[in-house]
Amino acid sequence: MLNIYKLTIEGLDKCYIGSTKQKICNRCARHRCDYKNKERLNKNCSSFELFALEDENKKVKYELIETTNLITREGEIIRDYGDRCVNYNVNIGLGLKKQKELAFKKWKEEKRDDYLKAKKKHSDKKRHLRQCPKCKKEIVCYYGENDGNMRRHIIRCNN
Ligand SMILES: [Zn+2]
Repeated sequence: MLNIYKLTIEGLDKCYIGSTKQKICNRCARHRCDYKNKERLNKNCSSFELFALEDENKKVKYELIETTNLITREGEIIRDYGDRCVNYNVNIGLGLKKQKELAFKKWKEEKRDDYLKAKKKHSDKKRHLRQCPKCKKEIVCYYGENDGNMRRHIIRCNN
């Protein structure tokens, strides 16, 4: 059985979600210990964001959220918390295909301007104006030298 737990600290509307087969008090003590020895252990964990705020008056608190045997549950809870969750890895328990979909969706949302620019650049390249060599009228073209609109125009222009 997996114990899914939540870490919080007073004064911050954020949490860390984790899962363990151990008792959560032991797991939380290990998080704190890892944080204190992070340089020596060369460890990093998103929970450190909360432990960094600890002092004599403020301690990271832990609570059991649920006990489950579904390994996908932890990821679901993390994603439910959204921005309130400090976890880096929000894709726990998802297949590779779903992870790629989510990564692309996130990229589109976060880099919406870049995405739109890339999209516009693509369409600009396709749609362009070319001048008729005879009447100098500008014709909307979508392809290269052999554009259909231009060919049709030239036939009309020559008659
Ligand atoms: Zn013409």
